[in-house]
Amino acid sequence: MTDDDLPAYVHDLPGLREHVRAIRAALPDRVELLYAAKANSDPRLLHALAGHIDGFEVASGGELRHVRGLFPDTPIAFGGPGKTPAELAQALNAGVQRLHIESAHELRLLTTALGDRTVDILLRVNLPVTLGPVALAMGGQPSPFGLDPTQLDQCLAVIAADRRIRLRGLHVHLASGLDAPAQLGLADEVLAWAVDWADTRGLDLAEINIGGGMGVDYARPQQVFDWSAFGAGLRERLTRHPRLTLRIEPGRSLTAYCGWYVTEVLDVKRSHGQAFAVLRGGTHHLRTPAAKQHDQPFEVIPDDVWSRPWERPEARDEPVTLVGQLCTPKDVLARGITVERLRVGDRVAFAMAGAYAWNISHHQFLMHPHPTFHHVDDVETAGVAAASVSSPSVHHAS
Ligand SMILES: *Cc1c(COP(=O)(O)O)cnc(C)c1O
Repeated sequence: MTDDDLPAYVHDLPGLREHVRAIRAALPDRVELLYAAKANSDPRLLHALAGHIDGFEVASGGELRHVRGLFPDTPIAFGGPGKTPAELAQALNAGVQRLHIESAHELRLLTTALGDRTVDILLRVNLPVTLGPVALAMGGQPSPFGLDPTQLDQCLAVIAADRRIRLRGLHVHLASGLDAPAQLGLADEVLAWAVDWADTRGLDLAEINIGGGMGVDYARPQQVFDWSAFGAGLRERLTRHPRLTLRIEPGRSLTAYCGWYVTEVLDVKRSHGQAFAVLRGGTHHLRTPAAKQHDQPFEVIPDDVWSRPWERPEARDEPVTLVGQLCTPKDVLARGITVERLRVGDRVAFAMAGAYAWNISHHQFLMHPHPTFHHVDDVETAGVAAASVSSPSVHHAS
């Protein structure tokens, strides 16, 4: 990679394959693993995942077209609020394996789109659970996602009157950023509620999709979600529900670790006593730290070449705020992180940039050039990138 390639997104495909393989191995057979494509729908990443997962979860007609185009036969679940009549028809034409129904109106729209086809659905329900402090709550409180429990009976009446619709079970995606014990606690609440709900209505509950939201800790990159504990916990719970299949649909926790955003320092300066490093690119390429209000972990890759006739601007053993090229104070990638040395011309590699990164960023703001994209697919070279994930030299707020 030359300086002309910067900023660059680099994706470690062998690392991703190994990560998802280990996750699949930690899960019991009766847990189906879907990948939420909205986290990162890069075709190379989807291909790396495909051999290890049971399907994809998509949340729009665009994602559906994209994923179906790449994988003609892989099971797809289609969820998300505000599906249009055209998207419902598209889903039926694409033969989605599950449709996640978000409202009674959406269910009625579906009946008008079906014709002589059948469809397997899950009702997405916003359960009254006690979530505690979580990064992003999608349920357990007023929200536009899923059905209020009081709406379910109305949906059951529609389904009972329409033989084309097969209710397989429930879908809940209530929170994101939970660690394994919290996810299992949430699963307990969901299971207890769902089993009781189905029993009192004499329903055969075949399946519960308990969503995504497995935690990714940007402040502690080594603190990876405990998939072994989670898998063991689910296995134990499934023994109590012998006829139930569970599904999960994580996004961030699958792809966050395989992506790097690599760039260079354009300027280093001091302002009112604080050091700032201005980097090529910024949050219009990597919006993750701005969106989640965290410091993106990074590693400095020194470049000793300096040919200017003046002193090379640098920060040394001091806190530095790493910003991008945008004319807004919000363009901060990491704030007040102590570095040994950071000089104009050094490279900076931001870790954990494989999910909700480029694809959620406002690329056109200020009309800077887009980054280049690279996929490291040979184990040797990928090792160099992957080694830094576990390297203690990755800077992060601690
Ligand atoms: C976004 C989303 C996911 C994935 O969430 P992560 O936090 O990336 O794991 C799963 N299910 C639904 C319904 C979602 O909206």
